[in-house]
Amino acid sequence: MYITGGNFVSFLRNNKYIIIFCTVTIVILSIVIFNSRLAHTSKNKKVMILYSNDEHGSLDNFAKIASLKEKYENDDRYDDVILVSSGDAFSGNPVVDQYIINNKDLRGKPIIDLMNKAGYQLSVLGNHEFDYGQKRLNENIEFANFPLLLANIKLDEDKAILKQPPPYKIIETKQGVKLAFVGIVQINNDGYPSTLVSNLEGLDFLSPTKTVQNYLYLKDKNDVLILLSHNGHSWNLNLARNLKNIDVIIGGHSHTVVQKAAQVEDTLVTQAGSNLDYLGKIILTFDRNNNLIDSMGELIDLDEIKFKKDEIVDIINSYQLDLKDVLNRELNHLNEPIIGVNNIGALMTDALRNSLKIEEMGYEIDIALQNVGGIRADKIYPGAITVGDVYEIEPFGNNVIIYKMTAKQIRNMLAISYIIGNSVDLIPSGLKYEIIVDYKGKLKKIVLKDLDNNEIDNNKLYTVVLNQYVASSYKFTAENEGENIQLKVSDCIINYLENRISSNELKKIYTKNDLNRIDLKITKGGTGQKVAKTKVDISTINKAHASVGAANLMADALSFVLDVDIGAYPSSQLAPNIVYPKNSPLYQKSLDLIYSSFAYHNNVTMVNITGKNLEKMLLKQAKYYKEGPIMTHLSSSARYTVEIKEDKIKDIKIYLNNERLKANQKYSFAINSYVWQFYAEAADYFDITVSQKTEKEILLEYLKEIKIIDSSILEKRVEIIEKNETK
Ligand SMILES: [Zn+2]
Repeated sequence: MYITGGNFVSFLRNNKYIIIFCTVTIVILSIVIFNSRLAHTSKNKKVMILYSNDEHGSLDNFAKIASLKEKYENDDRYDDVILVSSGDAFSGNPVVDQYIINNKDLRGKPIIDLMNKAGYQLSVLGNHEFDYGQKRLNENIEFANFPLLLANIKLDEDKAILKQPPPYKIIETKQGVKLAFVGIVQINNDGYPSTLVSNLEGLDFLSPTKTVQNYLYLKDKNDVLILLSHNGHSWNLNLARNLKNIDVIIGGHSHTVVQKAAQVEDTLVTQAGSNLDYLGKIILTFDRNNNLIDSMGELIDLDEIKFKKDEIVDIINSYQLDLKDVLNRELNHLNEPIIGVNNIGALMTDALRNSLKIEEMGYEIDIALQNVGGIRADKIYPGAITVGDVYEIEPFGNNVIIYKMTAKQIRNMLAISYIIGNSVDLIPSGLKYEIIVDYKGKLKKIVLKDLDNNEIDNNKLYTVVLNQYVASSYKFTAENEGENIQLKVSDCIINYLENRISSNELKKIYTKNDLNRIDLKITKGGTGQKVAKTKVDISTINKAHASVGAANLMADALSFVLDVDIGAYPSSQLAPNIVYPKNSPLYQKSLDLIYSSFAYHNNVTMVNITGKNLEKMLLKQAKYYKEGPIMTHLSSSARYTVEIKEDKIKDIKIYLNNERLKANQKYSFAINSYVWQFYAEAADYFDITVSQKTEKEILLEYLKEIKIIDSSILEKRVEIIEKNETK
């Protein structure tokens, strides 16, 4: 054993150098191996994909996107940074949708320009990319520095104007990772994507699912397959569950905010909301052999990003300046204003009923209806009528929806809308209607009439056009589900004003004061506590042009209850076209039918004012009335003359107890507090006070006192004197 041991020891001794060599070798080897592991790790490649979708004309955040892209490009952790969009860059902002500069159709250009400048490398044609027609789409595609993909489209070369879009695009990163991108767009049951179908002539759209299957082979030749899917989040999730080999789906169309990209089987599914609220960020990690070993995606809230690329801010600002030109594009011209929601609503519905685009699609529209709440301006000023005016009237971007309805269904719809709002709501074109209510405003019946005042055919089926808001939120039934033809109400109005109606017709039809498409008729019925009785008709008809009983009554009440020299009521605050019938009881609720202002519970403002200044105030209002329906009605001992020369109001003279007001004497005057602000601008006054009681309470107090309304309210208290010189 010893020898053996001795042998071993001597072995060690004799081979000392060998052992040292071996040990060193092992150490070196292990260092090499360790290092090679490190080297392996550092050979991983990270590719960043930045993505947006459904930008819909939002321009502001491109300066942030550009700066983010630059920042990540300068970060050497990333092999490459690729910026893509998943479609629907257009539609939603007038500076993009109406970008017609010096008669040149450049719609869509601003956003493509900004995508170019921000460094987009790829996009897919979303449904709204077709909104401006194929010719304009070709031009936009040409202008883009990046390809716009679409795999599920087939062109009929003879009919299509669009040039064949590429179905896919391979992007190779700096370090040689190959990413295949395929683009697809949604299609509806009719086989078309959601855009105006008349823009799609010669284009066949293929099943998105089958199309994707046809391109799965790209995965074999490339390292990853990425789908730019403008087809909604739930469809994308489904696809990920059912198809292998797609590594990433960047979605669009459903505007879904996917904060953390979903991992579905082997597929990352995501989407970045809409309107550039977010920019998505995907990080794909590849090993040295370009195998995808990790993927993640999340959204960057662009509100929280403060840095912007200055150069792009400047471009955005210049487009915002162009917005002025875009909105100022003249569509038509007026020398009188169009006043009030009834008249503007009539214009809107006529535009829908007479839309060339709807006609081109083979529809013949019988009736159009527009809700009062959806009319966002109550006056179109004289002068040029512009694109901006149209966006002011209809800022919502509502689409047009087409229904088939029976007369009964239309009646029901009008009835429900009256009952719910307790007021006249839907403004018609192609139809007139009467709402018949009892003394208290309770609906009894709706009568539909054609334009010649005959009752309409009950057995006919009518094609009715509604805006998207009414279609989706009103209670009604129809014979079909309603077709969204992807045409905007605002576009119909623009087209109507620009191409379908002359300035003369516009004036003739819509500046009329009493555009009688809806009549509210009051008939017997209704019980309860009476507040008075009327022996005469209480009328608001022609309220802007002559003395009317309803206004005289209210002016009398102010003068009597507030004990002022002159009480006044403006015609603008009266309900249109009401005749409260003579020999009827009046209820509290009856008054709401006659006086629109009662809904606002206005008080009354009282001032002392010189005769000269009161005439000035009424003159200013009367001049305004010449431009539209407004006139001041006065209490019984007062009256005034309006002098008109060559169609212009020249002078007003007020008389009290048959004597002209003295220029510098003070008189007490009372009028609705809401309208007072407009009167107050015209001249000085003294001692302003506001009544405790509302206007309605004052009228009730007066009626309690007089009990019976008699012919004194029918007095002619305004006289219009025309002094036109003959040439
Ligand atoms: Zn879309």
